[in-house]
Parts: sequence; structure tokens; C-alpha cells
Amino acid sequence: MDTCPVCNSQVKDKKYSGILDGVAYYFCCGECEKNFEFEPRKYMNCCMKKEKSKEK
Ligand SMILES: [Zn+2]
Repeated sequence: MDTCPVCNSQVKDKKYSGILDGVAYYFCCGECEKNFEFEPRKYMNCCMKKEKSKEK
């Protein structure tokens, strides 16, 4: 089962989807789809890099 990258809930049907860098993502609801399209990098950073350690 896919996980919604925006809110981390389980995606039951693949109604809402988006593509970033050639990879398809599925969302639990239209709101999450909108949020992802509005600011996809925000969610990608959180999923792939976790939190970057603080550098000064
Ligand atoms: Zn969601």
C-alpha cells in the first residue's frame, strides 16, 4: 500500500496522484494532492533527507 507523502496516511485508492522527477506519488485526498503540487519540494525533503543536521 502507498503512503501519502503529505500526511503519511495510507492511500487506499489511487485517485489522487502527482508526478515529480518522473516518480508517481499517491495521496489520500485532494487536499494533500493540492498541497504537494503547491510545494512538492517541501514533502520530498522531509521524506528523503529527513531533517538536515544544523550546520553553521
Ligand atoms: Zn494525505
